[in-house]
Amino acid sequence: MTIHRTIIIGTGPAGLTAAIYLARANLHPLVIEGPQPGGQLTTTTEVENFPGFPDGIMGPELMDNMRKQAERFGAVFKTGWVNRVDLSKRPFTIEIEGSDEPLRAETLIISTGASAKYLGIPGEQENVGRGVSTCATCDGFFFRGKRIIVVGGGDSAMEEAIFLTRFATEVKLVHRRNELRASKIMQERARANEKITWHLNRTPLEVVAGPLGVTGLKVRNNETGEEELIEAEGIFVAIGHTPNTKFLEGQIETDELGYIVVKPGTTETSVPGVFACGDVQDRKYRQAITAAGSGCMAALDCERFLEGNAAHDWSHALP
Ligand code: NAP
Repeated sequence: MTIHRTIIIGTGPAGLTAAIYLARANLHPLVIEGPQPGGQLTTTTEVENFPGFPDGIMGPELMDNMRKQAERFGAVFKTGWVNRVDLSKRPFTIEIEGSDEPLRAETLIISTGASAKYLGIPGEQENVGRGVSTCATCDGFFFRGKRIIVVGGGDSAMEEAIFLTRFATEVKLVHRRNELRASKIMQERARANEKITWHLNRTPLEVVAGPLGVTGLKVRNNETGEEELIEAEGIFVAIGHTPNTKFLEGQIETDELGYIVVKPGTTETSVPGVFACGDVQDRKYRQAITAAGSGCMAALDCERFLEGNAAHDWSHALP
C-alpha cells in the first residue's frame, strides 16, 4: 500500500505553489485536480496585478505555467473528485469518486478554493445554461448583441460588467444597496463605461424566462417597495463565493461560513498534519498572489511537520 508523503487537493494558485515547493524539496507531492483545474483564475481574463507580468497575463496561461512548473520538479497530477476524507488518524485517507481504493497520505494540503454563489431565487437554477451564468469569461460570447444583467456590487460584478460590454448592447448592473462594495478603481472603470447602466437599491426576486430562455429579472425597488421587471437575455450572478469544504464533513474546524480555520500566521488547521491555503481559508484577501503565498507557507509547514514526524520509511512511497 502506497502512503504518500503529501497529497494536495486543489490546483489553484495555492495548491500549485505548494506543489512547486514540495516537489523542489523532493517530497513527490501527489496533486488532485478537481472539476475546475487551475481554479478561479481559469475563468477570468487578464490578470494585471500578479507581480512579474508588467503587461498582464491571461488567467488560464498563468495557471498553465504554474502547473508546468510543478510538473517540471516532479509533482504528479491525478484527476478526481474527492468525496470524503478520514482525518481521524494518520495516514489520512482520501476517497475519490469512482475509485474503490482510497489514497493514503501522511500529510494533506487543502487548497480547494471557493465556488461561485447563486442568488437562490425562483427561476435561477432551471435557467443555468439558458441565460443564467456565474462566469462571464466562459459564457459572455453567447450574448453577443444581447442585453445582459450583472448582479452584485463587489469587484467581481464590476469586472464582469466591464468585460461583458464587449458583447452586450447594454449591461445593467443590479445591486441590492445604494453603495457599491467594489474598490474605487474598479467602480471608476465601470462608471466610465457608457454601456453600463445602474439599477441600484434593487433586490432580485425572480428570474423570468420564456421558451427561448431568460427574458428578465424581477426585482424589488427598495426605495418604493414596488416590483419591477428589468429586461435582459442574460443574467450573470457575481455575488461572491462559498468555500469548498463540504467533503471535510466537520472533521476539521471551520468558521460559520465554512472557511477552514488556520492558526494565525500559519497554515496549520485543527488537525496536525493537515494544512490549508488559498481561498478555502481566506475570507479577507482572496487574491491570486495571497493564495500563492499561503501555498508556499503550507508547503514549508508541511515539510517541517514531516521532518518532525517521520513515521514511515518513505523509500516505498513514491507516487
Ligand atoms: P464580494 O466582495 O463579497 O461582493 C459580493 C457582492 O454581492 C456584494 O456587493 C453583495 O452585496 C452582493 N451579494 C451577496 N449576496 C447577495 C445576494 N444574495 N443577493 C444580492 N446581492 C448579493 O465578492 P466579489 O466581488 O466576488 O469579490 C471577492 C474578493 O475578490 C474581494 O476581495 C475582491 O476585491 C476580490 N476581487 C478582485 C478583483 C480585481 O481586483 N480585479 C476582481 C474580482 C474580485 P452587499 O454589498 O450588499 O453585501
